[in-house]
Parts: sequence; C-alpha cells; structure tokens
Amino acid sequence: MSAVTPDQNPSSTSLFSRPAGSTTNERFLISDLCRMLETYLEPEKIKHITQAYLVSEAAHEGQSRQSGEAYINHPLAVARTMAEMRMDAESIMAAILHDVMEDTPVSREQLVEEFGEVVASLVDGVSKLSHLKFDSKVEAQAASFRKMMLAMTNDVRVILVKLADRLHNMRTLGSLAPEKRRRIARETLEVYAPIAQRLGMNNFRRELERLGFQALHPMRYRAIHAGVERSTSRYTELLGKIEVNISNRLEEMKIQGRIQSREKNLFSIHQKMRDKKLSFQEIHDVFALRIVVDDIDTCYRALGACHTLYKPIPGRFKDYIAIPKSNGYQSLHSVVIGPGGAEVEIQIRSHDMDRIAEEGIAAHWYYKSEEDQETPAQRRTNEWLKSLLELQQNTGNALEFFENVKIDLFPDEVYLFTPKGEIMSLPRGATGLDFAYAVHTDLGNSCVAVKIDKYLSSPSTILESGQSVEVITDKKIHPNPSWLNFAATARARSSIRHYLNQLEKDEAINLGKRLYKKAIRAQAGKYVEAPKDRMQSLLKTYQYSDKNALYRAIGLGKKLAVSVVDDLFGKKKKYIETQEPFVIKGSEGVVLLFAKCCSPVPGDAVIGMMSKGRGMVVHRQECPNISQYLDNQERVMPVEWNNETTGTFATAIRLQTRNKPGVMATIAAELATQDSNIENIIFEDRDSMSSQITFMVSVTDRQHLAQIIRRLRNIPEVIRINRPYT
Ligand code: MN
Repeated sequence: MSAVTPDQNPSSTSLFSRPAGSTTNERFLISDLCRMLETYLEPEKIKHITQAYLVSEAAHEGQSRQSGEAYINHPLAVARTMAEMRMDAESIMAAILHDVMEDTPVSREQLVEEFGEVVASLVDGVSKLSHLKFDSKVEAQAASFRKMMLAMTNDVRVILVKLADRLHNMRTLGSLAPEKRRRIARETLEVYAPIAQRLGMNNFRRELERLGFQALHPMRYRAIHAGVERSTSRYTELLGKIEVNISNRLEEMKIQGRIQSREKNLFSIHQKMRDKKLSFQEIHDVFALRIVVDDIDTCYRALGACHTLYKPIPGRFKDYIAIPKSNGYQSLHSVVIGPGGAEVEIQIRSHDMDRIAEEGIAAHWYYKSEEDQETPAQRRTNEWLKSLLELQQNTGNALEFFENVKIDLFPDEVYLFTPKGEIMSLPRGATGLDFAYAVHTDLGNSCVAVKIDKYLSSPSTILESGQSVEVITDKKIHPNPSWLNFAATARARSSIRHYLNQLEKDEAINLGKRLYKKAIRAQAGKYVEAPKDRMQSLLKTYQYSDKNALYRAIGLGKKLAVSVVDDLFGKKKKYIETQEPFVIKGSEGVVLLFAKCCSPVPGDAVIGMMSKGRGMVVHRQECPNISQYLDNQERVMPVEWNNETTGTFATAIRLQTRNKPGVMATIAAELATQDSNIENIIFEDRDSMSSQITFMVSVTDRQHLAQIIRRLRNIPEVIRINRPYT
C-alpha cells in the first residue's frame, strides 16, 4: 500500500472547485472582475485594469473563439483566475492584454505608453512563450522544454499568466478539432502541469492534469472515474466515522481545526497503475484526511491528538514542516490504523501552509502586496526565495534547497533549437561556435557562420534561450587559436585545442625535419642519411620513441638541429658562414611565428630564431631584440621568403602628425584606398603641436607597405613616418 504523496492535495478550497468539464453558465463580465478586485486592490489600480480591458476589448473586436463566443471572454477568464489568486494589478492587466500583441495590431510600444514597461514586458514575455513550439515526439525533451520556458522568463508572473491562459484553454478544449485537442492535452501534461508543480501551484497542476488526462485518454478517464465513484460511496460511512472521532478528540483538547476529506486525483491513479503495474484496487484503497489549523504549534498538538486516537504506523510519519519540500510545501504526514484496520493518511498543516501548498509561488504576491506594490518583479521573486529560505532555517540543508529553487528559476543555461527541432542546452554565454561543437566536433571544426532564427551571424555571437540555430560549414575552414577567444564551453575549447595540438605536432615535425636536413647539408655539404644504428642509439639517449618525436622536438626548438647533427656525425668544422637560408612562405601556421616587436612582412630581410617550445620566431634583421643573439649560430639562422607568399601580414607604422581636426580620417581614408585594413591604433604621445600614433595595418608585402608609406608622407599633416621596433 503506497502512502499518498504530498503533491496530491485535495481541491477543497474554493478556488478550483468547479466540477470537471463544466464551463461558465453565465457570462463573467468586467464588472464581476472588478468586484473581485475590490476586495484587495485600491480603486486607482482597478481603474487602470478597466482601462486595459477597454483596450483589449477594442483590439479583439470582431474576433471570436472556436466555441463561437466573443474573444474577449478568454482574456477576461484568464484575468479572473489571476484575481482568484489575488495577483497584483500588473499581472491582472497583463492577463487581460496577453493576446493583443499576438493577434491584434496593438504593439509593444503602445502598451509601454499606456500601461508602462512592466505590463508591456509581461505581455511580451507571454507572447514569446507562445512562439515556442514543443514537439513531444522526443519525450526526454519535455524536461528541457520546461527549463527553456523558465529560462526565457525574467519575471515569474509571465509563467503565471501563461499557466492561467493554458488552464482556460484546457477548460474550453471541447470546441477544438480532435487532433489539435490531443496535441494541446499532451503538451499540458508534459510541460505545463510539471511547471505548475515545480512552482508549488498544486491547484493548477491538479486541474491541468485532470483536463489533460480526460482529453488524451477519455476511455481510461471514464473507467477510473467510475471506479472512484463506486468505492467512495462504499467507504463514505467509514470515512465519516473517522472524521467525527478526530473532530471530537480535537474539541476535547481545545484545538480549533478544519477537517477535510480528499478528492482523488484520477491522473495520478492512472500514472501509478501504468508505472507500477498495479490494479485499481491496490492503488485506490487509501483513506486520507486533512486537518488545517491556525499555527505550527497546533499542528504538532493535533498530530498528538490523532496518535492518541489511532495507532501510527512506524516509519510512515513525515515532518515536512521542519524540512519543507523544495517547492516550499509544508505539512505533517502520518499514516495511522483506523477502524477495522484500514490505513488512513492524515495531513496536518496551518492555513498559511495550506495556501502555499495550493497556490505555491502565487501565494506570495498576496502576502507581499500590502507593503510595496511597485517592487520590481525580480526583487519580489528574491523575496519569495528568501521567505522559502526562512521557512527552511531550522534545517541543515538550507543552502542546497535555495540553490535548487534558484537554479530552476534563474538557470545558468540557455536552451536552443536545432534545425530538427531538438532542444540543446548550453551554459549562459555560449556562442554559435559552442553550439556547432555541441552538435558535432566536425561541425565545429569547419564552422564558418551560424544562422540564428534564420539570420546569418558570426560564430562568435552569444546565443539566447529560444533561438533556433543552424550551423554553416565550409571545408576550407579550420580552427585557429583566435577561436579560443569566443569558445565558452569546455567541449568546444578542448576540441579546438586538440585540433591545434595535432596541427602543431604535424607542423613541428615538418619544420624539424627541414631544419635537421638543412643542418646536415650545412655540415657535410650535402644531405646524407644518418646510419641506422647511430640514429637508434641517439633516440635512446634522448629518450624519444621515434624519429618523428625527434623532428618534433627540433621543430619546437627543444632540441637544436645543429647539436643533433653533431651528436650523430661527430663534431666537425662547421659551414655556418655559407649556410643556405631557410625558406619560408609565411603561411606555415602555428610553429612559425612573426615577432610582434618588429612585425616583418614578405620582402623584409629576416632572420629566424629557434625559441624553446614555440618553434621558429621570425624577426627583421635589424630588429634590436635579436642583435644580442646573432652570435648564437645554433639558435639563429638566415631565413628567406619564398616567391609565392600569399595572404596579408600585420605590421606597425608609426606616424607623427600635426594636431589638426580630421587628420585621423584622412589617414584612414588613404589606407583604405591602398587596400589596407587598420587592425589597431595606439595613441602613444601627444603635445600641443603633434601626436604620435601607431597603426597596425595589414599588407601583402614590403612593396605594398612602401607604397602605403609613400602615400601617407604626402599628407601635409604627417611630419614623420617610420616602422617602429618595440
Ligand atoms: Mn490566450
């Protein structure tokens, strides 16, 4: 026999007591709404709400629902539900206006102007959620979809309006075509009911589940309904007797309380029968009562009263007052042995706890509204979280509890759609490139752009929840180190690093092999193969597994080619003076770097220096930073550009200019006419007469650069121009 879970609370409060399937008989009017609002809102606020009604009514003029009734009845019904929860004026207005942005010409700007930013952004939020399309073919997605909805919501009230909207749509589902009805019912069960549960709104959850179950499985619904009716009538007498006994005992002990019997949750009976493969009888035979009292103290006294009347079953007592559930639910649960050996579950709680158990997060607006109605929603939500935290203060795991609630409401994740409609979650701050790597490494490695909601964007664009993302690839594209600047996820970063490491390895081996062969030629006059046994013993001495490992070490500057050759062939007189230059084409990649201090370009006289672990760094011959190493002929070698350099090279030009307005613009325009991009500008010095500015520009070679310098010299404001060393 399974104990009744705390989520299955009775719906005995006035709020959602309408019987299944019924629709309002008399029309609910704006005047009826105002009468409800008068009980808790100021007249001024009600005036605003009436104004919102007039705008909404005019906007929906001429539209009708599937059932044939005027459309305005729907938003009004949603507002009524919000008013039943005693939500604030902004929520009520948002409920009344929730469909105008979607279905009428009313714009967000208009809403801001007439009703303020808060109401407009609530309506905007509800409209955005309506755009999300849930495709329940993949069942595991339901959870992600729910998170996505919460993630898109900066203000929890958006979710509350959306739930009230869905509730009314479910209540009026009958007028829709069967296929659409089933789709909405399934979505309600998989997405909306669990959200209501997460927010502690059990009254919503129960009704959404019941209506969803009824629409999706009408036969099963009827069967279980009939079963419950039958057994209830059979046990009414027994339950009545228990109620009277408890009631008398409470009176004897001078405890004020209200006893309620519970309505059966047909959907959860269905779920248990399905999931636990139990028969109707096995699940259904649980008697349950609830006692609602004034305060916490009385809860425990009432529990004592029940235990003196009926024996509690050991291990079946749960104190959710001391340790609330993560959605804020508080209550005492105990299973006792009633008359004739029947097990009876008794729930005991205070009025406040009862209200929170039914309305969850919505209950808190009512309590807060007295003090400050204008508090921004975020702060109010934080207050709610704080109040939950206070409920929790006597228990040890308060922090963990707080984290749970917070993560669900303000997740650190964004949720995105793939072109196939699947949902992908990424950490907040993730970019298009991260998305590409999350789908597949190959997709990431060749990602050239992304389409976000069908618009072409850079892979570095930061993504937001609810967007649909498509990756555009190009086989010619490969990861480069700059990608690490905008890859946020561990997966993307490690994939890029892996690729670069592999590339570096290959390039280093290549470079090392060339350096090695060149060193032999320099020493022996021509290339000769090293004797196999010598090479083997050398590898052993160096502790390298094979020749490639040795080449790689040379390429990365960890071993010097010259000393390797010496070790192999024995030290001989060297031919360094006549050493042939090492030929580079400038596009070697990661193991061949151009020194930042002198930024050489093709055509410059250059020199290469092996730098430990980085490979070869190419400097201009006259660079002062390299002069001290020129004697170290093991590390430094002449380098020559091959004739077919391609691409652009960044280099620095330093200008001294007169301070005249428009100088910068003239220079920039001149550079543009010369097909050169400015990559960076550094203002180094300025006095009353002149300024010193360094431009990083891109050029194809030395000739291109010379031409640019000539043109810049012709600008009258340019006093001096040179290529700096830093
Ligand atoms: Mn609606």
